Amino acid sequence: MSTVVSYLPGVTPTPSGVEAEIQRVFERQRETAIRLRTSTAQERIAKIKRLHDAVMAHRTAIHEAAYKDFKKPPAEVDLAEVLPVISEAKHAMRALKGWMKPKGVWPTSLTVGLKSWIQYEPKGRCLIISPWNYNVNLCFSPLVSCIAAGNTAILKPSEMTPHLSALMAKIVKDIFPEDEVALFEGDVAVSTALLDLPFDHIFFTGSPAVGKVVMAAAAKHLTSVTLELGGKSPTIIDETADLKLAARTLMWGKYTNNGQTCIAPDYVYAHASIKDAFIKECVAVIEENYGRSAKEQMGSPYLARVVNERHTKRINGLLTDARARGARILCGGEAVESECFIQPTLLDNIPADAKIQSEEIFGPLLPIIAYTDLDRVIDEINAQPKPLALYIWSKTEGNIEKVLKRTSAGGTCINHCVVQYAHGNLPFGGVNNSGIGSAHGIFGFKAFSHERAVVRTRFMMARVLFPPYTDFKAKMLNIMLKTQ
Ligand code: NAD
Repeated sequence: MSTVVSYLPGVTPTPSGVEAEIQRVFERQRETAIRLRTSTAQERIAKIKRLHDAVMAHRTAIHEAAYKDFKKPPAEVDLAEVLPVISEAKHAMRALKGWMKPKGVWPTSLTVGLKSWIQYEPKGRCLIISPWNYNVNLCFSPLVSCIAAGNTAILKPSEMTPHLSALMAKIVKDIFPEDEVALFEGDVAVSTALLDLPFDHIFFTGSPAVGKVVMAAAAKHLTSVTLELGGKSPTIIDETADLKLAARTLMWGKYTNNGQTCIAPDYVYAHASIKDAFIKECVAVIEENYGRSAKEQMGSPYLARVVNERHTKRINGLLTDARARGARILCGGEAVESECFIQPTLLDNIPADAKIQSEEIFGPLLPIIAYTDLDRVIDEINAQPKPLALYIWSKTEGNIEKVLKRTSAGGTCINHCVVQYAHGNLPFGGVNNSGIGSAHGIFGFKAFSHERAVVRTRFMMARVLFPPYTDFKAKMLNIMLKTQ
């Protein structure tokens, strides 16, 4: 099974003039990037504060834009768009002085007598490309790290939530000179034009398929990349899990943003002995949170819509395909494509060849698979690309440890889900197909910094090894080889 993703539109030509405009701004950022190398913590904090204040001042406007884009509930906008940016900004403002300090390192036996340290230098001109599902958060949070590290930035938010991206363009224009931070709205054509340029770092959040395009473009200039990607994130509910808590928490993690979250549970392995009870709990939570019928759920103020009709058709296609191959609908199952609406839907009995088993769902469908042997579940997970998230619900330490040690994932929650994203002192990122590098806090600062190795001589010890290579020096080398 391979992870296939959501969005690869045909390349349309770059609108005339935009390419030249991109080139002009990129050139303007050259001198600024060099000047910013000596920027102080105070100067960088002042810029982050401007972003923080502007996001707070536009909070209601962000609610309105997100509602226009896909009826996203304001509480979810606060929780997953505004709060993460504010929290990233506050964390950076508090910690930046410490992050910027050169870090002294102990000499190794070969370098006794040398004073050495790591100096964090800005990478230079950076490009940040964000996806539509949390357009504000996933553009402005990396921007905090980018500014903290002393860089210039060009931002390219997703075109799929146009009200949000227009608002972000306005915010950036209001608070930053274009030679420090600029934003270009547009689709794949604008992205492609940007990716042609020799940036010093690219921070991309989006699908694995487009991540490969970004990495190939970066390779032309040997530009470093941070790739925050997606994929299918499994959840395991074992026979000892607290089912009520698991159902309530997982239905929140899954149906926030209507399943359109990179770290949402994509599918669930439930132990056969508790599967039916777990499903019953999940159905009860869905009905309590969003209503029983499709009509009630369509009218729910707590359920965002699918982002557009194309994605609604894609997700409905996965549902139709699974049904046609014999999957059973446990709740939900109705779709109104013209309204970008699909019911929160739980399914089981899904055959291995159903498309829903291989594609990242990125929508309100949740397959539930019965298992009896945890080792087989681990083998199945290990046969897939490494996921961005893996969740385990259990009260059995042996099971938790087995899953942690024998699988690989960007992040894991034990008896929780999605909150690994919110922890500013943990690295947030994937592994291989789900991403390269990490974001948040000091990890984001480092992503946008070059760790420069600096060595300063106190005594010229190395002189004993300079030519001529006498017998004495050969003896010295022998001693060194033996004493390392
Ligand atoms: P996407 O990859 O289609 O688009 C992301 C960005 O890339 C957009 O700005 C888009 O305009 C641009 N783009 C699209 N095609 C391009 C191309 N061919 N060349 C250059 N640029 C291109 O992703 P999406 O549909 O916006 O978002 C959904 C995906 O993002 C899912 O796979 C999800 O798991 C992932 N995601 C990951 C994270 C994370 O933090 N790891 C967060 C959110 C979403």
